[in-house]
Amino acid sequence: MQKTKIMRNKIYPYLVSLGLVFIMTLLGEFVKRRLEPTNIVMFYLLAVVIAAIRWGQGPAIVTSVLSVLAFDFFLVPPYLTLNVHDFEYLFTFAAFLVVGLIVSTLTSKVRTQIIQRQTEKLHSALLNAISHDLKTPLVSITGTLSALLDSKSKLDEQQKNALLETARGESDRLNRIVNNLLDMTRTESGVLRISKKPCDLRDFIGACLEQLKDKIGSRNIKINIPKEMPEVNVDFPYMLKAFLNVIDNALKYSPDSSAIEIEAFCTDEKAYISVRDYGYGIPKEDLGRIFNKFYRVQRAQNVLGTGLGLSISKNIIEAHGGHISAESVLGKGATFIIEIPLE
Ligand code: ADP
Repeated sequence: MQKTKIMRNKIYPYLVSLGLVFIMTLLGEFVKRRLEPTNIVMFYLLAVVIAAIRWGQGPAIVTSVLSVLAFDFFLVPPYLTLNVHDFEYLFTFAAFLVVGLIVSTLTSKVRTQIIQRQTEKLHSALLNAISHDLKTPLVSITGTLSALLDSKSKLDEQQKNALLETARGESDRLNRIVNNLLDMTRTESGVLRISKKPCDLRDFIGACLEQLKDKIGSRNIKINIPKEMPEVNVDFPYMLKAFLNVIDNALKYSPDSSAIEIEAFCTDEKAYISVRDYGYGIPKEDLGRIFNKFYRVQRAQNVLGTGLGLSISKNIIEAHGGHISAESVLGKGATFIIEIPLE
């Protein structure tokens, strides 16, 4: 399926280029009695520029060649043949081809430069975010250990332990960030190898809750998964990771006293699993962005996190052909809905 999608993306620009040439030819047909054919060439040049800006050099060159052929065939007398009466037109064709090629080369160069610059900007923003995330726990660990070394003799056992606990907590945090980063690169590179096996949804959710049992403590988790739910085909360890992030968020971003509800239902084609909490919720304008890398809602800054969890979940779910979305009413809670295709 991935392959056909890639093929479609590759062929699409050429098909649209063909469409552009077709439209320009139609326009030319309309005005050919009022305009000199050499002026109609401008329409085709426009098509070449559009193709170059939108898709780069390959489609632009194809547009140039197709334009010359269509121009000659439909708009230069004698019509509906590639022959020409007037040899001056041969000069027009050659000039058009040369101009078309130059325009397409220049435009696509500019396009590549713009893309490069945007990528560089994105990379440096990501690096900034990563270094900031790594630095915070590192500074804290170094500070705590230095305090311990400097005043070892003056501290009693309890104070020493408290400092060591802090250092351990921060090391755990560091570990989580690095693991998230590794997961992110693994799931993002597009080479995520998933090996699906049928799995019972109730067992699966049970395994998720088992992994989170320390965080869940005495919290009220309501599960409503019909017995007759069909099995879903998933890569267990990866999908577990995807769900853990979502359920962990529901726990993190809601008060301890509130309930979490996990429900499931299915249609002929898909299984739907929702995770609902009654916590802080997500502002409307952030709903579309929370699945982006490193994106954290401003108010979430006092809850620890890296902004990577949901983007990892999204990559994993989409690699299964599924989909994840969020709904929320601010102050009332959030619901995450995960769709998994039934095969
Ligand atoms: P983080 O490590 O910050 O939790 P995620 O990628 O898991 O990163 O989530 C991105 C952001 O989406 C969070 O910072 C938080 O602002 C918001 N968010 C995610 N889940 C919830 C939820 N259940 N309730 C409220 N906000 C949420």
